[in-house]
Amino acid sequence: MTESLSQQPKLDLLGFTREQLETLLAELGEKPYRAPQVMKWLHHRYVDDFDEMTDISKSLRAKFAEIAEIHEPAVSSEKRSEDGTRKWLMKSRSGSLVEMVFIPEGPRGTLCVSSQVGCALDCVFCSTGKQGFNSDLTAGEIVGQLRVAEKILAADYPDRQRVVTNVVLMGMGEPLLNLDNVIAAVSIMMDDLGYGISKRKVTISTAGVVPGIRKLCETTDVSLAISLHAPNDELRNELVPLNKKYPIAELLEVCNQYASNLGEKRTVTVEYLLIGQVNDQPEHAAQLIDLLRDFPCKINLIPFNPFPGAAFRTPGKMAVRAFQNRLVDAGYATMVRTTRGQDIQAACGQLVGEVADRTNRQQRYQRIVAGAA
Ligand code: SAH
Repeated sequence: MTESLSQQPKLDLLGFTREQLETLLAELGEKPYRAPQVMKWLHHRYVDDFDEMTDISKSLRAKFAEIAEIHEPAVSSEKRSEDGTRKWLMKSRSGSLVEMVFIPEGPRGTLCVSSQVGCALDCVFCSTGKQGFNSDLTAGEIVGQLRVAEKILAADYPDRQRVVTNVVLMGMGEPLLNLDNVIAAVSIMMDDLGYGISKRKVTISTAGVVPGIRKLCETTDVSLAISLHAPNDELRNELVPLNKKYPIAELLEVCNQYASNLGEKRTVTVEYLLIGQVNDQPEHAAQLIDLLRDFPCKINLIPFNPFPGAAFRTPGKMAVRAFQNRLVDAGYATMVRTTRGQDIQAACGQLVGEVADRTNRQQRYQRIVAGAA
């Protein structure tokens, strides 16, 4: 086995779940109980070199060095917002840059990570979509963002063991179109031998990839958020073109199935972008109230964040408040997501990274719409 493994590209160890690591160790003729040791070196002590894993035999270290690597995405630049939000550009294996954002809020620290370089979905209001799709991030690159953030932030918060308390997959990309890597990455984020973040505090956000949610039902119980953004198919088809393939009724049905797995007091979060004069009118609120009547959920309203060249407007504060009040009066737990880091273009929908090759989008999108997602 070692011989055949050594001829393959090196294994990306940061993206190995506990189970995958146990399987690998067995294949290498090692005891599975080494897996926790290796994971702690990777995710608690942040080693970059197998030789630093001092409680592991020399022969296993040598085997690892031959077949595997510890590849952390390199930070290429950093910006700090006046409000404390920080944004890093990181280099992916493809050479393109992806963005990651840290949002501090008192004792809470939320890290918004990317799952893909660019995005294939082309939602009309999103700047990531405008730049097209380049490639998937590996599981190691998704977990690696959290590892990098923890390392950098440790210096600023010396009294905290972990700085990141919440992770949201709301950066660049559509997580459910990079499903296997995302599932592995969130499993490591939630594992005590990884980053020990509670399943309630790791959230996958999706534009509505129904087969992906179906698969999630079988594999994980992380928190789920859906980017609904419209109360009817006609409008949603325009805003989120993926809706033409997976209309609202199908999306809500599979979410109900997912929610039934989550157990008590946990529901799916509905994200609703508020775009001035497009979906923020009283009739939209009324339709949304009807639509979600039998759908237990929390609603997050996100005022549209502008970006250069955007054709939409942010609604005024009064309009946002009025929309929220209608939902609250109808009995829905409804929050308005405060915009953070806007001065550094770190808010939702403003993440663009730097995608070298944008040509993949058409091809990829056509495949998704044709049903091969
Ligand atoms: N593809 C996933 C995750 C990435 S986007 C998804 O669609 O959910 C994360 C959130 O930011 C989504 O709810 C998305 O719709 C929202 N978003 C995108 N562009 C935005 C913008 N310009 N202003 C505010 N939110 C935006």
